[in-house]
Amino acid sequence: MVVLELHGSGGHIIADVTDEQAKLSDLGVGKNFLAPIGKLEEQKMQKYFCKKCEGEFDGSPKIQIEESPNEPVADDLILIERGQYTCHKCDSIIGEYRVFQKKE
Ligand SMILES: [Zn+2]
Repeated sequence: MVVLELHGSGGHIIADVTDEQAKLSDLGVGKNFLAPIGKLEEQKMQKYFCKKCEGEFDGSPKIQIEESPNEPVADDLILIERGQYTCHKCDSIIGEYRVFQKKE
């Protein structure tokens, strides 16, 4: 487990991630990103920073499930859930997530 600052469009989240998630989040530009990781568990998120509030908050942001499309995105890959992490105070989006599942 490592603790990383994971960037999204509207801020960042400080979270415990596995080595595998850390690798996924590293796009090689010296920052780590939320989007490639998939959904983080609430208890793994220690705090978040909201750009709109210009403030840091303890705990996890809200998790808003946008849809569960079960939509095939490639021959062997299904998009099973799409959603956002949003600020408790102002409701703006901190970052987005996608959950994919491989077809057996
Ligand atoms: Zn906010």
